Amino acid sequence: MAKKNHKYIFVVGGVMSGVGKGIASSSIGKILQSKGFKVNPIKVDPYLNVDAGNMNPTEHGEVFVLDSGLETDQDMGNYERFLEIDLSNDDYMTSGMIYKHVIDKERNLGYRGKCVEAIPHITEEIVRRWKKSSEHHESDISLIEIGGTIGDYQNILFIEAARTLKIKHPQDVMFIMVSYLPVPGSLGEMKTKPTQNAVRQLNSYGVQPDIIIARGTHSLDFKRKEKIAFSCAVAPENVISAPDIKSVYDVPLNFEKDRISTIIMKTLHIRTKAHNGELEEWRKFVQRKTKAKHKLKVAVVGKYFDTGDFVLSDAYVSVIEAIKFSSYWKDSDVELSWLNSKDYETDSKKVSELKDYDGVIVPGGFGESGVEGVLQAIEYVRKNKIPYLGLCYGMQLAVVEYCRNVLGWKDASTAEINPKSSHVVIDIMPEQKKILEDGNYGATMRLGVYKALLRYGSIAREAYGESEVSERHRHRYEVNPEYIEEIEKAGLMFSGTSPDGKLMEFAELPRSAHPFFVGTQAHPEFKARPMHPHPLFTAFITACLKGKK
Ligand code: GLN
Repeated sequence: MAKKNHKYIFVVGGVMSGVGKGIASSSIGKILQSKGFKVNPIKVDPYLNVDAGNMNPTEHGEVFVLDSGLETDQDMGNYERFLEIDLSNDDYMTSGMIYKHVIDKERNLGYRGKCVEAIPHITEEIVRRWKKSSEHHESDISLIEIGGTIGDYQNILFIEAARTLKIKHPQDVMFIMVSYLPVPGSLGEMKTKPTQNAVRQLNSYGVQPDIIIARGTHSLDFKRKEKIAFSCAVAPENVISAPDIKSVYDVPLNFEKDRISTIIMKTLHIRTKAHNGELEEWRKFVQRKTKAKHKLKVAVVGKYFDTGDFVLSDAYVSVIEAIKFSSYWKDSDVELSWLNSKDYETDSKKVSELKDYDGVIVPGGFGESGVEGVLQAIEYVRKNKIPYLGLCYGMQLAVVEYCRNVLGWKDASTAEINPKSSHVVIDIMPEQKKILEDGNYGATMRLGVYKALLRYGSIAREAYGESEVSERHRHRYEVNPEYIEEIEKAGLMFSGTSPDGKLMEFAELPRSAHPFFVGTQAHPEFKARPMHPHPLFTAFITACLKGKK
């Protein structure tokens, strides 16, 4: 059972997409944690996909994988990082999931012959899931971000479900709208009208926002606060100024400048439970960037790079954040460069640009495009002893590169690209083969947390300081067991394996051959947290600092 007087905060977006609802929700969660409340964040994605697994990251952003293996929206990553908690399947929902459940239930006579309709059956299922999530976390407050923008058709049922909760528990439910105030170039002044219209639209659903977070390039002046307050029927102090800032980790501190926690607690009829100094620790963390003593240059070499920088950083947000956390804790600030591996395919000399970097990362990826260029980059950093961290595809391709250029298996490849190669050193496992033959692409990779045992004396083991680790996975292919012995004999060591020894989870070169050349089949970036930087990234950053140009 959810706690009596359990509170719900709904976060909706006005005016346009991309206003930062995820960061706003995470920040509100952080602030409420600092007041002693147990918060459970929930992300609602209105699309019909049953999870985020089949969605293109360059269009939709990173696919964030939970411990359970559920493939979710990148906002789940923001919640995990800000709130330092591990989320579960109950904390993420899409329209597809809800509809699928309701339709399956109908097929199984679960509605006992009734006519099944969007209202109430879909909305009831939505509310049931929200309650389940709060029960799972035994939380005081659920923080529910409704994806999309007010005015979309897709999210109406979720807003309706929220409205029904508000009607039943008027004291326990509140709405926050994250809106945007544009500054048209010709006028040079912040305009409130789109926000007014968005609130009116929300009102037409029977919902009144309690707080309006006004995103914009600038802070909101009092005149505009009053204008929004007057036309949207909220108190002027309930209009929170949220100007663009350099770091998303500043947002909780900024919201508190407008005393958002006081307004939330007043609206929900609650009092501070405990002062735990969490925001003080947070403030110190945020200051680490500005106080950094060293500057590092790290290159991320990959193939998702034809669609512009904006998309890029979205597709790898967890990798970026993991790098940042580790560098801040190592008193350094890091400049990340996104290098397009395809450039090396047309101009093989260009790869020498990597000599200007303190370290190189090849992140996860899929498919053939840009891979030959990535292999050139890996060869370059291996030979020139530039610290290298390979994440998932980055480890698989490090193995391919080693087989081609050290073992001399010229056409060595992964089955993902060339299954007919005479040395398929990264191969598909039999159970995965069957899945693909059946055309069953959704949620069928090796997903979620798996344990690995680390070899004594290895860089990986030293980095983690533990012999057994568990990391999240998202891939189909594995190092082909047939070649392990020969590869290891040639000097590339598999320093971590699955507990049964069958799956290669970490690969590395010995310290005598290279200062830091490590790949992992996992996605450690999903477990990096601001206050707990990830040990493998920290080891990489330490190596970058040691070899600093
Ligand atoms: N494409 C590779 C695989 O499916 C790697 C996936 C990844 O990097 N996430 O095994």
